[in-house]
Amino acid sequence: MKLIMLGAPGAGKGTQAKQIAKAYAIPHISTGDIFRANIKNNTELGKKAKTYMDAGQLVPDELTCDLVMDRIHQEDCSNGFVLDGFPRTIPQAQALTKALEADGETMDYAIDVDVPDDNIVKRMGGRRACLNCGATYHVVSIPPKKEGICDACGSELVLRDDDKPETVQERLRVYHEQTQPLISYYEEQGILRSVDGTVPMEAVFASIQKILEA
Ligand SMILES: [Zn+2]
Repeated sequence: MKLIMLGAPGAGKGTQAKQIAKAYAIPHISTGDIFRANIKNNTELGKKAKTYMDAGQLVPDELTCDLVMDRIHQEDCSNGFVLDGFPRTIPQAQALTKALEADGETMDYAIDVDVPDDNIVKRMGGRRACLNCGATYHVVSIPPKKEGICDACGSELVLRDDDKPETVQERLRVYHEQTQPLISYYEEQGILRSVDGTVPMEAVFASIQKILEA
C-alpha cells in the first residue's frame, strides 16, 4: 500500500499518517526525518542536501526526490509506505511520478484530509503551550484545570507565535498556492480520495480505513 497524505497545515494529516503506519505496519516517511537521518549518517545524498541547507537555500526538488526514492527502496518499504510532507509542489509530484515510473511503480492513493481554513485558524488559535515544561493544551478540547495555567508545573500558558491567526493564515496562503494544486494532479491520476477532516480524529481514521479496505 503506497500512500501520499495531503492536507493543509493543521488539518491533522501527520496524526493520520502515523495511525495508518501503525495499523498497516508500513513506514511513515516524512522528509524531515529523511533529511536528518541522511545528514546524521553522512551519506552522499545527505552531504549534498547539507550544502544547500548550510547555505540557507532550499534543497532542490530533484535531490529531495532522490532522498525519498532512496528511502522507498529500503527493505522495510516492500509492503508499502505512507508519505507525509512530500510531494509539496507540482514539480516535486512530477519528479516522484517519473522516478516511480522508472521502477515500474505507481502510488495507490493520495488521501486529502480536508478541513476549511477558518476551522484550522480556530483550531490553532485555541492551542496553549507551557514554555516551561512543554505541555500543550487546547481551550476547547484539552483545557487545563485552571484557565491559563499549566496543570503540570503551574506556569502561565501562552499562545505560541506559530499558532497565531496571522501566522496560520500565511501558512495556509502558501499551502493554497503551492500544495493544493496537487489535489487536481492526483485527481487526474485517478488516485485522489478525500476525507472530512473536521470530525474527531478516530472518525477521520475510520473513513481512511474504509477507503484502504474497499
Ligand atoms: Zn508546564
